[in-house]
Parts: sequence; C-alpha cells; structure tokens
Amino acid sequence: MPQTPSRIVAPVVEVFASFQGEGSFVGEAQVFLRLAGCPLRCLWCDTPGSWAMRPDKAARIQRDGEPVQREDRVASPFQAALWIAAVEPGEPRTVSITGGEPLMWPDFIRALRPMLGNRRMHLETAGAHPESLARVLDVIDHVSLDLKLPSDMAEPVELERVVLTPREGEAADADRPEEAEEAEDPEEADVLAPTTETAPRTREDWAMARRRCLDLIQDHDACVKVVVSGGKPPREYDELFEDVARRAPNCPVFIAPATPIGGVRAPEFQDLVTVVENARDLGLDVRVLPQVHRMLGIA
Ligand code: SF4
Repeated sequence: MPQTPSRIVAPVVEVFASFQGEGSFVGEAQVFLRLAGCPLRCLWCDTPGSWAMRPDKAARIQRDGEPVQREDRVASPFQAALWIAAVEPGEPRTVSITGGEPLMWPDFIRALRPMLGNRRMHLETAGAHPESLARVLDVIDHVSLDLKLPSDMAEPVELERVVLTPREGEAADADRPEEAEEAEDPEEADVLAPTTETAPRTREDWAMARRRCLDLIQDHDACVKVVVSGGKPPREYDELFEDVARRAPNCPVFIAPATPIGGVRAPEFQDLVTVVENARDLGLDVRVLPQVHRMLGIA
C-alpha cells in the first residue's frame, strides 16, 4: 500500500559525490544516494552494511574536504534533496539512487523526483522487484539493471516494516507490540514501510522477475550489468543473455569481472572471453568493464 505523501520516509545510509564506477555512465561525476534495506544476499555483495534498515544508525553526509556529517537516518525526500544539494561541489549533478536495493522504497523515489530540479535521476537495481520498478520507471532517466545468476544468491530475507516512535525518535521495540500499536496512529508515528513485493527465491522466481524487468526497460534508457565470477561454467550465464536478447536486445550489456571478496574469485581470463563471445553470438552489445570504483578504492 503506498505511503501517505506527507509521511514518506526511507533509511539513508549515505549521500556523497563521486564518480560512477559501472555501466553506461562510467566516469561521470555524480551524487550517490544510498538507501538502506536489501532482502537479497548476493554472494559477492560489497555493501552488506546496507542490508538492514537500522533506523537507529546515522546517515553519513560527505561534503568534499569536510568532516563527515552524521544525521538521522530516517529521512523524507525533501531532506534527502537538501543533502544532495549540499554535497555537490559545483553544478548540479546526476543523482544515482543505489543501495541496498532502492526498489524497497518506490514511494520515496517518486516523491524525490520533483525535488531534484533538472538533475537526471538514475536507478541502480538488482532487478528482483518488477512491480516496484514499474511504479517508478516514468520518473527515472536511466536504469542500471543487474542480472543475477540464481547460483550467486543465498536465501533472501524479507524486510519487516518498522513503526518509529516519534516521542523518542527511536524504532518501536518488537518485543513490546502494545507500544508499536499505540504508535501506529498515523498522527503519531512515521513508518519505515519497504515494498511488500516479495524477493525471488527459486530459479523460476528469478527468471520471472528478470523477464518482467527486461520487458519494462526494453524501451527505456537502460543498461544491463552481469557480474562474472570465477569457477562457473561460462554457459551458466546463457540464460541471462538469452533473456536480454529476446526482451531487450538493444540494451547494452556490461560484464563486470567479480572483484575477489570472501570466497568469491575473479573469473579466469579465458572463461571471461568465452562468456563475452557467447553473449555476442546472441547479437548483444557487450562490453567488459571492471568495477572502476573498486579499482580506485572509492565509494
Ligand atoms: S542487491 Fe546489492 S546490496 Fe543487495 S545483496 Fe546484492 S549486491 Fe548487496
């Protein structure tokens, strides 16, 4: 159920200016708005700190050359827009909304759009929530859609809504439901209410979500990203490329060799070449692009 416009909030991990490290706009100076909350569990995730909503944590606002400013994490779209303007070192920049999984917060994204003036708004998403994507697509200038191999995903979790107690400004204690109920009066409390759309669990769920997302972006400004990790047969990626070829054949495909993390390895060079050739055989516009922001050691 959509949130009341005057009470839309989302948990903000950080707002900062940097260079885009992936996809069609690599190298562009942008502002990044990272929202907390992700039900997915990619084995090579480099931002596990954004999985939990954690309304008790601070939002990190980083202005160039200044000490990090820490603010209340739960923010309205208006507050987020003020932070975006504050961290821009110069002229207004494109804003990339990232996560976590930003499609947990479709109402927030829609409400943010008119507050960004003529800045472009880009979305970086895992492509697991097509209903949420459909809700925001008309306000997004560019979608960067990650396509995931089911074998790269651990079991997802579901994010629960959190009723915030305005008197203390803290999350209601889940062990004291009477307090949460009391605070649930819309005049009394804000609610962190992520989308109720469930995350894919099975291979079939993933295929369905992926295909619906590709159908949505086929005529939109968008790119697809596929992370290729070591130890996988190159043919395993075919199911992703075949769906792109059938549903969004004009969408550029960026293949990102996995940056080693935890037990995940970078791919062998020959395997990477084979993956690229398999995608090219389907007529796709394929480019190999390492995760530049991680090579440079920037966010
Ligand atoms: S979707 Fe993004 S934030 Fe969520 S687990 Fe995957 S890489 Fe991490």
